[in-house]
Amino acid sequence: MPSLGEKMQDIYDEVLWRNPGEQEFHQAVHEVLDSLGPVMAKHPSYTDAAVVTRLCEPERQIIFRVPWVDDAGTVRINRGFRVEFNSALGPYKGGLRFHPSVYLGVVKFLGFEQIFKNALTGMPIGGGKGGSDFDPKGRSDAEVMRFCQSFMTELYRHIGEYTDVPAGDIGVGGREIGYLFGQYKRITNRYESGILTGKGHSFGGSQVRTEATGYGVVFFVDEMLHANGDSFDGKRVVVSGSGNVARYAIEKVHALGGTVVACSDSTGYVVDEKGIDLALLNEVKEVRRGTLAEYAGLRGADARLATSGNVWQVPCDIALPSATQNELDAEDATVLARNGCRILAEGANMPVTPDAVKLLTTAGVAFAPGKAANAGGVATSALEMQQNASRDSWSFEHTERRLGEIMRGIHDRCLETAEEYGVPGNYSAGANIAGFIQVADAMLALGVI
Ligand code: NDP
Repeated sequence: MPSLGEKMQDIYDEVLWRNPGEQEFHQAVHEVLDSLGPVMAKHPSYTDAAVVTRLCEPERQIIFRVPWVDDAGTVRINRGFRVEFNSALGPYKGGLRFHPSVYLGVVKFLGFEQIFKNALTGMPIGGGKGGSDFDPKGRSDAEVMRFCQSFMTELYRHIGEYTDVPAGDIGVGGREIGYLFGQYKRITNRYESGILTGKGHSFGGSQVRTEATGYGVVFFVDEMLHANGDSFDGKRVVVSGSGNVARYAIEKVHALGGTVVACSDSTGYVVDEKGIDLALLNEVKEVRRGTLAEYAGLRGADARLATSGNVWQVPCDIALPSATQNELDAEDATVLARNGCRILAEGANMPVTPDAVKLLTTAGVAFAPGKAANAGGVATSALEMQQNASRDSWSFEHTERRLGEIMRGIHDRCLETAEEYGVPGNYSAGANIAGFIQVADAMLALGVI
């Protein structure tokens, strides 16, 4: 990692020393500290109160055993996590990820990012994240249910409407949230809708929450285009992943006049020049829980399945990495820029490596960081909390309009802050600084806690 200014480097060195081996967490911290030099120079009170050092240390980290029994009767053991990172702005808020790659370093990177993302939404929510190294792939519904029940049997004592409100992430969608909520209700004998978001519409979920992250990314890019007098009309778009974020991003790009010509999953990618057939992709991924090979087979001559190389080799105007962290490296960035890509917005959390970000920026590709571009999911989760608290339920149209306003607000705040701190047009610096100041001011007001 390139060296930071002296004060920030000292804090970063302490983070490395305190959190050995947590590479993703180090990367996320470095990326934020790299933007904070001008802020610290302008506001010495942040340094005096050790705000940055405190921000880098989670308020609480919970690790627990999750025992469950598979369909063959074998006892399985997974590890569960919840990192309650910062509650200066409100109850901890952030998703749960079920994926074999999950360990403390991944949960901490996601929780750290979440603090600034949640602050940018302007909603009263703190930052947290959780999950497990459980792999739902290939597991029956009954196995997923037993796992979720065991996971919640420990997690329930740590969450609550005013404490910590989890939601979904990779591997945790509507099915898992339903099982988790059911077990919470059973254990506590309380119907507390506000303890989880991303719930189904039949039990307290908000309209648009499922769609919100993907829609929000596209709304954000739409604002970037408008800022340059342009629009989605006729644009070629490439999306990675074909999960929740990717599929609703595809839907909104098509609605705004662009064409998504390729998407991917963990087995390969598919090129579909006429535009990804979303109904078919939903059927394959959500109903059959299959792979893109199945999509290509059913789509016929229009689609080409590739299992070597990666999706970034497909020429596009706009790239939306929406699968997982560090999925797009410097080599991919070089190919994208050479092929004429003009905008890259992170649908996933930290999908672009630091080297790749630098390359894109140097090549003049506008870069929108995940903590700004994909904040629509958590913002709509906050809208779900608002509806649950007031026993209300809003229409799809009203909720989508609120999402659009929030994304526009985040976009403008990033640009205005970047301008104010002497880095005009730099969305990353704008997002880091604006999110940081909001949290730092609250931390100062609350004293050393
Ligand atoms: P899903 O589980 O719904 O989809 C993830 C997609 O990415 C799948 O297509 C999966 O492939 C692919 N993928 C996952 N891991 C890998 C990997 N290691 N290599 C290649 N492909 C991979 O997750 P979401 O769509 O919810 O989340 C995607 C990203 O967006 C994550 O970074 C998440 O943190 C972020 N995000 C999600 C939000 C939400 O509201 N859901 C909110 C904000 C950010 P396959 O289909 O083969 O499993």
